Amino acid sequence: MKLGSLRFCFLFVLCAAVVNAFSLDREAFTFTSYDLSVRVEPEQQRLGVRGKITLRNDSTMPQKIAVLQISSSLDWRSIKAGGAQLQFVSQPYNSDIDHTGTLSEAIVTLPEPVPPKGTAELEIAYEGVIVLDATRLTRLNTPEAAANNADWDKIDTKFTAVRGAGYVVWYPVATEAGSLSESTSAFDMLGRWKTRESGSTMHLQILLPGDDERDKPELLVNATTCPTALEVRNQFVADCTYRSLGLVVPTFVIADYEVVDRAAVEVHFLRGHNASAANYADAASKVLSLITEWFGAARNKAQTADLGDPNAAPFESGPLLLTPLTSTDPKLAGLAAAHQLTHAAFLSPRPWINEGLAHFAQALYLEHLSGRQAAINYMGLHRSALSAAEREKEKQTTASRSGDEASQSLVNTNDEELYRSKAMCVWWMLRDMVGEPELKKALASYRPDEDKEPFYMQRLIQAQTKRDLEWFFGDWVYHDRGLPEFKIESAFTRKTLPGAYMVTITVNNVGAAGAEVPLTVKYAGGEVTQQLVVRGKSNGVIRVEVPKAPEEVSVNDGSVPERETTNHVFKIEPSDDAK
Ligand SMILES: [Zn+2]
Repeated sequence: MKLGSLRFCFLFVLCAAVVNAFSLDREAFTFTSYDLSVRVEPEQQRLGVRGKITLRNDSTMPQKIAVLQISSSLDWRSIKAGGAQLQFVSQPYNSDIDHTGTLSEAIVTLPEPVPPKGTAELEIAYEGVIVLDATRLTRLNTPEAAANNADWDKIDTKFTAVRGAGYVVWYPVATEAGSLSESTSAFDMLGRWKTRESGSTMHLQILLPGDDERDKPELLVNATTCPTALEVRNQFVADCTYRSLGLVVPTFVIADYEVVDRAAVEVHFLRGHNASAANYADAASKVLSLITEWFGAARNKAQTADLGDPNAAPFESGPLLLTPLTSTDPKLAGLAAAHQLTHAAFLSPRPWINEGLAHFAQALYLEHLSGRQAAINYMGLHRSALSAAEREKEKQTTASRSGDEASQSLVNTNDEELYRSKAMCVWWMLRDMVGEPELKKALASYRPDEDKEPFYMQRLIQAQTKRDLEWFFGDWVYHDRGLPEFKIESAFTRKTLPGAYMVTITVNNVGAAGAEVPLTVKYAGGEVTQQLVVRGKSNGVIRVEVPKAPEEVSVNDGSVPERETTNHVFKIEPSDDAK
């Protein structure tokens, strides 16, 4: 008796120790393949899923426990391996990766430990409802209307739209908790998940009960291949495949759409939105040649689908854009189309390339439409957000700047401000530096599957130009050296020949990132602009010849983002020497 209780006690202590030692490594497994059959029942706002998933142990320890997470509005029904039920404990787990702010987490005991690099195949079943829910935002005090405009996912008879991980966890994932209240935690966690899933595939069968009485709704899925839905035994069936989950968020939309089909884009719109849909299709047709010139022909035809509610936040994933089709402004449509068509043509696993180029394309579109200054003004909105973020960051991280340099570099960052706004500026500066034909050729030689090293893009551009770009990529792409800050130190004028003046200008950069910046000398009746390289924390000197006495020198037309945009104009007082 005594021995028995001692043994029990010993076992108990041992078990506690094992659990502690394990302490659930939620990111040990990568989900390498999904094979899911999804039954959508709009009348009940329900989803029922059966299927198989393959897990690969990417940790260095054998794993006996697997964690599977789905949205908290869904419930686990069964988890099997080789036909045998597995034991699992289901618990709520707080995480902002799902719109409800909570996941249903199954902690599964595997039949045997999976060694590092080993795989396990599980048969799974779960179901539940997907209704409008913006808890993760309202609990942060976001006003309800604004929260619902961002988290609009739901299954409904009138309109169904469900996005994947990051919005609605409708297929299983395994992640550490991500919180929107900690500025980077949720994005870093999502970034890590996408990197882990970059080689993962998904085969998806979506079943939708048919109804002969009703008009057939349209089913849109953003998969790599997804032949048109078929009607089988009174239900719609779509059979779709995703080749890489790192680049797309599996999303499906079901609605009574009408379609405008053009060479550039297919626009799916809701009743009454004909004018806006035609406006978008026209804008896309107009911008198509510019995009093709820069980024090549579309790999997949761009698909745009109406969100209905004019306040709903647009969402894009690969060539699919979900947006309210309620505006008839041709310029806004052109900007959105330039972005979308770039994604349809050019693909990169690196956000600073993928998103940076799509934003750069918007600036190109405006330049094409109304000139360089219009593009620079547009980029100014991004630049000021970037400068503000930069100054905020400097306050926080003066102590840990060196650590931050690598993690916040464009090649590594999950921060949208950087991989969108900053990257757009970097592409613009690169074009100014190496020239348009050279940059186009470099982009045409880009192969996403060969982009294995951070410096791959630099090499491609370097192959088209004699210029050394190492310092530029070092300051802007491989490290986060912040932004430059220019000041004209001095401008000396000397009369050379009759009707010729030489101005010697010294520009100081107090920021740590160098740049090639435009410098303009104005004189009565004209101006001359030249480019000057000013490295970080140093001076650059340039001589500019003008035909009349110079009156004013200015640095940076706005094409280079700066930490602080102070006075960039230097007045030249007329001197006796210069007359
Ligand atoms: Zn984009």
